[in-house]
Amino acid sequence: MSPRFSAVHLLVVFVVIVAAAPLLLSSFYVTLLNYIGLYALVSLGLVLLTGVGGLTSFGQAAFVGLGAYTTAALTGATVLPNWLAWMGGSPWLGLVAGLLLTLVVAVILGSLTLRLSGHYLPLGTIAWGISLYFLFGTMDTLGGHTGLTGIPPITIFGWVLDEGGEIFYLIWLFLFAGMLTTRNLLDSREGRAIRALNGGMVMAEAMGVNTARSRMVIFVIAALHAAASGWLYAHMQRFVNPTPFGLQVGIEYLFMAVVGGAGQVWGALVGASVITILKEWLQDLLPLVLGAIGNFEVIFFGLLMVLILHRAREGLWPHLTRLAPQRATARPIATTAEPLQRQVPPPAGEVILEARNVTRKFGGLVANDNMSLDVRAGEILALIGPNGAGKSTMFNQISGVDTPTSGEVLFRGKSIAGHASREIARLGMSRTFQHARLLPTMTVLDNVAIGAHLRGRSGVLPSAWRMDRAEEDRLMAEAARQIERVGLADQMFNEAGNLALGQQRILEIARSLASDPCLLLLDEPAAGLRWGEKQALAELLCKLRGEGMAILLVEHDMDFVMGLVDRIVVMDFGRKIAEGLPDEVQRHPAVLEAYLGDVE
Ligand code: ADP
Ligand code: MG
Repeated sequence: MSPRFSAVHLLVVFVVIVAAAPLLLSSFYVTLLNYIGLYALVSLGLVLLTGVGGLTSFGQAAFVGLGAYTTAALTGATVLPNWLAWMGGSPWLGLVAGLLLTLVVAVILGSLTLRLSGHYLPLGTIAWGISLYFLFGTMDTLGGHTGLTGIPPITIFGWVLDEGGEIFYLIWLFLFAGMLTTRNLLDSREGRAIRALNGGMVMAEAMGVNTARSRMVIFVIAALHAAASGWLYAHMQRFVNPTPFGLQVGIEYLFMAVVGGAGQVWGALVGASVITILKEWLQDLLPLVLGAIGNFEVIFFGLLMVLILHRAREGLWPHLTRLAPQRATARPIATTAEPLQRQVPPPAGEVILEARNVTRKFGGLVANDNMSLDVRAGEILALIGPNGAGKSTMFNQISGVDTPTSGEVLFRGKSIAGHASREIARLGMSRTFQHARLLPTMTVLDNVAIGAHLRGRSGVLPSAWRMDRAEEDRLMAEAARQIERVGLADQMFNEAGNLALGQQRILEIARSLASDPCLLLLDEPAAGLRWGEKQALAELLCKLRGEGMAILLVEHDMDFVMGLVDRIVVMDFGRKIAEGLPDEVQRHPAVLEAYLGDVE
């Protein structure tokens, strides 16, 4: 039995069990399953937002409320004002209106809070989570704390879903559709851009990802999942009040995502099931055991949360998959896919990068003082100097991470100083990082494919519905070609985190190459490598130069540089102290002086 076969079979069995559940179970359990489905839909949004994108939100319950209240107000017993009367009645219009309103609110809240970093973002989500909750409770038209009643059931082609066992199918259909599209999205160009957020904004931007956009995309998707859950909830309960949309429930949603496994589509379902069932069970059991009435399960959940964060950071899902048969192997690479378009490379010897009188001051410190250098197509230029000389600062001025105080940087004739690094990447400059910035749990292939981001264009919706496959094949084939080009073919499907340091550096070079650059910027590529790894790296760089690539490398290691590069620029105290062929530079008195005092 092949692994793919059994994974599909498990899924089919699962779907059949779910479909049969309302026919076999008592209404109590059907209701429980309805709640599990509704909660899982919300946590699914958090899987994307928090688990994959690394953005924590405590405010999802407010979006559930937005979806629920919109449809309640449009379809419930309250009489709509004249100008809205045409919308009244149909739950399906209520769904569309709820999703649209949530979209607008999420974009506004997202643009206000997503720029916050660290723990300010979660605090921001708490702030608007509480605000919306109070809004639901205080607006007279929304019924205050009593809420709204008279919400009609959903009707599908005349079938009235007015029983738990009927709306059950709609809830679980929404959940499965959500899981399927989320899984598709994660396995696409957009999904890689979202995952790249976890590798740090500087890396993602350097690979051409618009990180502000990606953050907004997952924020909006998570909010829409929550609003859809709210819509289903309102038409299941047939009344709404503010209680289920408060901060405490928002925390529970987050808890479900974390317990299940915040980076995993199935984790949302596992988390929602475990928490819902446990809660039900503890609410009956704990008061009996403790002999008093109260919400003791809250304390229990607090302890459980601490335990999970200590013992199973990735949640329960990864532990469950270890019990199941091996998962399906990766999709084969379509070697016949039409190659991606390439930019016309500059002719060998042409000056492609020119830094002119670049100065960068940090307060009183002049980290780069009137620095000039140029790089030609097909050559390796090394920028060397003792620690603190200003090499990394110079690197940042060129790659768009930082903006010079004065001076100019020209790349292929265009002024790029002060441009965003993703725009510079589009022009054909790509970089690696001194401390490898990879996504350790993704395969080498997926990591390298992030580099090809700018060479594809499939957006969120086509990816979610698998309409991006032709382009995806071309992107993956390109990633595979670059992996072969740098000699990592035997590691293609290994997780990047398993590679040795030297291989990780080479992986980063492959990732850069996937963007079709004509200039590679390498920040201390030999640092921390063993002798053999340095040899392999030097060989690779020579090979790339032979293919016409221009390479600018910042390096501390003199020995590595001497035999390899064409020209050297030496810096000390922010200034250029020497420039020329390796032999000349090595004998230059100012260089000897600068390096003599340096502990090497
Ligand atoms: P190198 O890479 O050659 O070791 P750097 O470019 O990292 O040197 O640093 C050059 C000088 O600029 C150092 O004195 C460093 O402390 C200072 N420097 C670098 N970045 C900043 C910053 N963001 N703010 C203030 N000082 C900085
Ligand atoms: Mg440095």
